[in-house]
Amino acid sequence: MTNKIRIGLVGYGNIGKGVELALEEFPDMEGIAVFTRRNPEDLDSKLKAISLDHILDYQEDLDVLILCGGSATDLPGQGPALAKHFSTIDSYDNHNQIPEYFETMDQSAKAGKNISIISVGWDPGLFSLNRAVFESILPAGETYTFWGKGLSQGHSDAIRRIDGVKFGVQYTIPVETALEEVRSGSNPTLSTREKHKRVCYVVAEAGSDQNLIEETIKTMPDYFEPYDTTVHFIDEKTFKEEHQKMPHGGFVIRTATSATGNKQKAEFQLELESNAEFTSSILVAYARAAYKFKKDGKSGALSVLDVPPAYLSPKSAAQLRKELL
Ligand code: NDP
Repeated sequence: MTNKIRIGLVGYGNIGKGVELALEEFPDMEGIAVFTRRNPEDLDSKLKAISLDHILDYQEDLDVLILCGGSATDLPGQGPALAKHFSTIDSYDNHNQIPEYFETMDQSAKAGKNISIISVGWDPGLFSLNRAVFESILPAGETYTFWGKGLSQGHSDAIRRIDGVKFGVQYTIPVETALEEVRSGSNPTLSTREKHKRVCYVVAEAGSDQNLIEETIKTMPDYFEPYDTTVHFIDEKTFKEEHQKMPHGGFVIRTATSATGNKQKAEFQLELESNAEFTSSILVAYARAAYKFKKDGKSGALSVLDVPPAYLSPKSAAQLRKELL
């Protein structure tokens, strides 16, 4: 019998693979199995792969499930169904739908006397925490969020669907002058175009019309039209050498002016070579918190804003007070 926190993974995509890796760095936690909708034999996971159809057989073997499915179609179904039977962590990132998702997860988790911590990651997640803290302590101010430099999966997919595109990636990049203006404390009002630009790297199929591809990208409504977009055509070798990583990051900045006119600026920055690996480590740390809440006898859904930082740590509250205060 292990004393470690026993973790099951649901789904084996980028985040699932990242969680499997991250678990190796958390000595008090142990990966037990990966549950998948695909044929388990087709997965190259290090952990045992099991069909998701059999997950209920593992209720006694797992303390927390980390749900690694996509927010668009996987989590809205899998989350509430599994929260009835297991404590869960997920990275639901459909910002507009979070209140409804929270309610559904809360009902399921309470019905099963489980804990479900939703929308864990960096945005939503660590960025949300920083927005909440900064706004609480600097009430008379403005908060700005910038994303990037980062690879956007959705925008890269949109490029790859265009006729004549063999490979393509898109990076979201904060506009430097906008960042400087915000940091100066002038509390500017910035349009979408003024805050971020989009830079695309495309490998075109032989014989395709590059001008048409570029025009199609730049005029794509919602995705590219509201931004200043640059398109670079590159060869396949360069693409494979330079554009395989998934970097991301960004800034949360709050600026305020006190009653005496003193300017105050609070800033939180992330610079990530691998979005998936970093997000996965956050999910694993919050699984520890779910385990502690469950041991306290609590049930229901929580967001990152409801979790005390000490619950993320393997150390006791007393130890943390000694080392970190
Ligand atoms: P993927 O598309 O890589 O994986 C999603 C699911 O698709 C997997 O769980 C897996 O389920 C299935 N899948 C993966 N690969 C294959 C394949 N080759 N063939 C068939 N099915 C496959 O998504 P990500 O892991 O990149 O991202 C998951 C979610 O993480 C995102 O939707 C987003 O919501 C969230 N996220 C949140 C962040 C935050 O800051 N809050 C940051 C980054 C991501 P199965 O094994 O059951 O088939």
